[in-house]
Amino acid sequence: MAIRVTVWNEYRHEKREERIAKIYPEGIHNAIAGYLKEEPDFEVRTATLDQPEHGLTDEVLENTDVLIWWGHMAHREVKDEIVEKIYYRVLKGMGLIALHSAHLSKIFVKLMGTSCTLKWREAGENERLWVVEPSHPIAEGIGEYIDIEQEEMYGERFDIPTPDELVFIGWFKGGEVFRSGCCYKRGYGKVFYFQPGHESYPVYHNPQIIKVIKNAVRWAKPVKMISEITCPNVKPLEKI
Ligand code: ZN
Repeated sequence: MAIRVTVWNEYRHEKREERIAKIYPEGIHNAIAGYLKEEPDFEVRTATLDQPEHGLTDEVLENTDVLIWWGHMAHREVKDEIVEKIYYRVLKGMGLIALHSAHLSKIFVKLMGTSCTLKWREAGENERLWVVEPSHPIAEGIGEYIDIEQEEMYGERFDIPTPDELVFIGWFKGGEVFRSGCCYKRGYGKVFYFQPGHESYPVYHNPQIIKVIKNAVRWAKPVKMISEITCPNVKPLEKI
């Protein structure tokens, strides 16, 4: 069965800044979606902030197995009631992949329960993304590391709960390190945070970065999806 993926993007930088539109003429969401569509077992759609209900109607969410999220300057414009719906959909089994500046998105912060703050610097420095868990499905097909020519520095401390599994550690030219690929389980759902993807650099055109995102989609797809969250009072199975 196909994995139904929705790529969500706030889609503001690309519309406002020409230098970013040059890298992503159709927006970051369409760039990522275009690469994901190469996979015959993926059924891909996109959604953006300015669409009604941010493109995430009940119908769209109910037909999404894995939601990919890119947001930055407009986190606060995302309506709480939509965040609430995504949150419960994750608890019921939907996968969520939070990319780059989505560390401060309402949905990621809510799922983590911490501030999700970090150190940052935009200096065009290079990043070496080390695979620290080579046998993890998200690292499948990736060598020892990925070299990213230019990336925004994200540095520790990254105020997240200790990841269930840490797949990547990023090292930056300026000296900082960062937990760049973090896996969590929340309820029946899986969450993957992946650090690369500053809008000013063509990071989502890097085939290895796309390979990681594709692997993450396969990892995050629901294994068991529940239709509602209940807390039932039950009869004993054995005689007490
Ligand atoms: Zn950034």
